Amino acid sequence: MIVFDLHCKDGGETFEAWFRSSADYDEQCAGGLVQCPVCGSSNIAKAPMAPRVPRKGAGEPLARLAALQSEMLKSSRWVGDQFATTARAMHSGEIPPEQVHGQATLADAKSLADDGIAVAPLPLPVVPPTQVN
Ligand SMILES: [Zn+2]
Repeated sequence: MIVFDLHCKDGGETFEAWFRSSADYDEQCAGGLVQCPVCGSSNIAKAPMAPRVPRKGAGEPLARLAALQSEMLKSSRWVGDQFATTARAMHSGEIPPEQVHGQATLADAKSLADDGIAVAPLPLPVVPPTQVN
């Protein structure tokens, strides 16, 4: 069995129909046997197929998350283990605020939070730029 997305040229509806084969669809369509379930028109054409299986690559949650994170970090400066220090300095106004990311221990993160400095863990681990290559 094969499923086609069909498009009603009269009413503009899109619907699904099952056929034994592609040839079976051609036959039934030519004979006017394929009808729009909404308006009954037999003026039917195949609609562009929509993918029915999750797409590989970009569609995978992890890849999506990674793409999101890399987008997020585009405007963010890597500060490495200076993260807590930098976050504190920005909070106190010593340095102008900017988006930074880096490494912090759990204790650092907790102490920052205690001081009312908002930090958020990144969804995925980041490879420090110094370790690339
Ligand atoms: Zn229709």
